Amino acid sequence: MAFLAGPRLLDWASSPPHLQFNKFVLTGYRPASSGSGCLRSLFYMHNELGNIYTHGSVLYHLFMCHRGGSPVYTRLLALDMCGVCLINTLGALPIIHCTLACRPWLRPAALLGYTLLSGVAGWRALTAPSTSARLRAFGWQAGARLLVFGARGAGLGSGAPGSLRCYLRMDALALLGGLVNVARLPERWGPGRFDYWGNSHQIMHLLSVGSILQLHAGVVPDLLWAARHTCLPD
Ligand SMILES: [Zn+2]
Repeated sequence: MAFLAGPRLLDWASSPPHLQFNKFVLTGYRPASSGSGCLRSLFYMHNELGNIYTHGSVLYHLFMCHRGGSPVYTRLLALDMCGVCLINTLGALPIIHCTLACRPWLRPAALLGYTLLSGVAGWRALTAPSTSARLRAFGWQAGARLLVFGARGAGLGSGAPGSLRCYLRMDALALLGGLVNVARLPERWGPGRFDYWGNSHQIMHLLSVGSILQLHAGVVPDLLWAARHTCLPD
């Protein structure tokens, strides 16, 4: 992957404190760079390259070594959290829309409730002091989704057959990714062995891509179902 000869990389101890968030990744840290220096890092090997190429949170991973330091990093992390929160929010709204297709009062109330809850979760994630606190912030949204899935499974909701299974897989993959990221596995078992490939953050990225694909696989038939479905009068 080394198209360009990159700058000399740093080890964990010599990287700036705001980038020392994973003490099991020992080497491969980019030095502080200008904006174009960060862009150049798309083309040489370093320990964020896998994260840049496996995911949508490209800006955060690409520019986290910007020479603006910790203030720039904090803003990038906030942007990343906004992205996660938007996926968690906008992804669930069509699920609620279809699940409550035949409940004209409950549906708008549930959509509004979930949106408000997402606002709170987003704020908590933005102000969370640690990775595990961020995971907990999104736990409230996951809890609300489980409630919707439970209602649907119990026959209280509606939707395309088969979609619910996709949604359960979606949240299982997302949860697994979050836990792997917090646990810092597998690099905790072999510090320095997963600096470039196969560390917890990359695994989380891949699991969240799988999660979004499950969302897509569930929502498309669900929306088609809702468009065709006519509700029986009570
Ligand atoms: Zn990431």
